[in-house]
Amino acid sequence: MNLKYSIVCLASWLALVQAPATAQSPARKMALTFDDLPYSARAQEGWLANARRGTTQILEVLKKHHAPAIGFVIETGLQGSISERVALLQQWLDAGMTLGNHSYAHPDFNNVTVEQFQEEILKGEVVTRRLMAARKQELRYFRHPMNHTGDTQEKKEAIETFLATHGYLVTPHTIENSDFLFTVPYSRAVQRGDETEAQRVRAAYLDFTLAATEFAEKISPQIFGREIPQTLLLHANDINADCLDELLQRLIARGYRFITLDEAMADPAYQTKDTLVSLKGPTYLWRWMRSLGQNISFAGDPEPPKWIIDLANGR
Ligand SMILES: [Zn+2]
Repeated sequence: MNLKYSIVCLASWLALVQAPATAQSPARKMALTFDDLPYSARAQEGWLANARRGTTQILEVLKKHHAPAIGFVIETGLQGSISERVALLQQWLDAGMTLGNHSYAHPDFNNVTVEQFQEEILKGEVVTRRLMAARKQELRYFRHPMNHTGDTQEKKEAIETFLATHGYLVTPHTIENSDFLFTVPYSRAVQRGDETEAQRVRAAYLDFTLAATEFAEKISPQIFGREIPQTLLLHANDINADCLDELLQRLIARGYRFITLDEAMADPAYQTKDTLVSLKGPTYLWRWMRSLGQNISFAGDPEPPKWIIDLANGR
């Protein structure tokens, strides 16, 4: 056997033994979070039937992929047909998911006082806390509407203290995919029976979510020296009801397994104190980077396609 042949053989053998390891790695982790429960677009006609369909689909897909998730409730969304709407929250708990507080009426913290916001937090937990207590679950997570965590340091710190006193943790997210924009032209296309347009929006949505995920995978090692568990912010809405299966399949193909928010929060990166004061609601990768005094470029952070933004804004 000549040397050249031996090297080729060794290379093929290495490729063979390494193949299974490559197929299984990287072992990425992601927590899935859904905002605006019981279901988005509350004013829409036929809302309840659509919300039931969407909720059922989302939960079936989560169960299929053994993916835990947390849903953040806006309790004003329970007004009207209250028992039917509460039943949607029960569906989440029946499926083994957990719930969090997303305020009572989704106010923008930039536009209200600390006292008003505190009232929103307390009013927003009444039903959810009761439902969870009946299942021996504890209400532990709060997510600020629009992730506006305080436009002044005083407001931010006052609410952080208030939340901690009431047993809440602030919920971070590391990936945001603007699903609330994509779902507008998507629902419109579905309603008018335009399957070609619906498919075009779905494809753009999935590609954009994967691009945002890839960016988080690239930027987190620059901040923490390693890829950290990601937390994806989604909404309970139509585009997720219809795309979640394909989305989770594509994430699994990238090496992800889905974990609870508790598990993501246990990662040391998530212990980084967010000290960023901003009018906006950026991801926690940005907040942590700035809080750590780093100056890393987020220039590659993808934006949703302009045609989606235009359609969502009715242009
Ligand atoms: Zn929200």
